[in-house]
Amino acid sequence: MSAAKQFIRAEIQASSAYPVPDATGLLKLDAMENPFGFPAHLQTALAQRLAQVALNRYPDPRYSQLRELLRERYQIHADAHIMLGNGSDELIDIIAKAVAQEGASILAPEPGFVMYRISAMQARLKYVAVALQAHDFSLDMPAMLAAIEQHKPAVVYLAYPNNPTGNCYAVHDIEAILKAAPGLVVLDEAYQPFAADSWMPRLAEFPNMVVMRTVSKWGLAGIRLGYMAGAPAWMEQFEKIRPPYNVNVLTQATAQFCLENLAEFAQQTAVLCKERARVFAALQALPGAHPFASSANFVLTRFANAADVFNHLKSDRILVKNVSAMHPNLQNCLRITIGSVEQNDQVLASLQRA
Ligand SMILES: *Cc1c(COP(=O)(O)O)cnc(C)c1O
Repeated sequence: MSAAKQFIRAEIQASSAYPVPDATGLLKLDAMENPFGFPAHLQTALAQRLAQVALNRYPDPRYSQLRELLRERYQIHADAHIMLGNGSDELIDIIAKAVAQEGASILAPEPGFVMYRISAMQARLKYVAVALQAHDFSLDMPAMLAAIEQHKPAVVYLAYPNNPTGNCYAVHDIEAILKAAPGLVVLDEAYQPFAADSWMPRLAEFPNMVVMRTVSKWGLAGIRLGYMAGAPAWMEQFEKIRPPYNVNVLTQATAQFCLENLAEFAQQTAVLCKERARVFAALQALPGAHPFASSANFVLTRFANAADVFNHLKSDRILVKNVSAMHPNLQNCLRITIGSVEQNDQVLASLQRA
């Protein structure tokens, strides 16, 4: 037996690395990236800003400037503690590490974001999945409340809107979960700029709620920056696990620059929301396609045969995500990221031919 086989944990050996398909030469609509390049008229100013960054120094480990800019831009409650991560993926990991004690569990509705499950496995936590209702992906509240009662999870994850289904759960359902949960409830708002509302304004009401967000989906997936806000009682503990220099200086400077120019990105978001409505209507009119209403920058769509449609799109050099195998409730479903007007035209034309 090789030393690696002997010493690496069995569940790690049995798992596989996060799969990212090769998208060379393809129109990439599989990962909810912003289709627009960095605004041309801001490029020189950004380059100048980045040229002044002290690359020889470790980052400000408190990242005070960036935190306060986030607080101001998104009106985050003054008493909430804001923590930054190398993508929200890192924050999800940090939360798992912090609660990983004997018998503890993490609970999330499924189909949902895969990192909740992966982070739980890696931290040796029990992971409890509760199926969403098959017809509309709403929360199955009797099942959720029963699972919360039974497992007393340290953390409940609710993505708002949910990935890969695109819907926002009912507000009164989430309120009931916030009341019933014995531990932390994380509202993962990765798609916040595309959604109509947010839980951030209600932070002060729920001491066991954390609101998590990322800059990835609105245009900055490459810099890896996520943030979460919540009561200091929780966040101060999480801070002890965060690697001291987890957000690098170039990421901090780029994020600051973009937050100062947020209107540019809000404009792009507005285009994508308009496009989402257009794509949704076109899919609804397409024989054999059943799109689900979305509050995010993608549309989950059920086809008669998703594998055939996926392959047809791919032969037209378009890459979407086939989520059919992720969960029984997602049979024959593709997740299609909203692109630019031209890109969406391309997708719709290809689907017409399929
Ligand atoms: C994309 C996504 C994330 C991950 O965001 P990063 O900041 O890029 O790590 C988190 N949660 C949900 C629901 C997502 O869809």
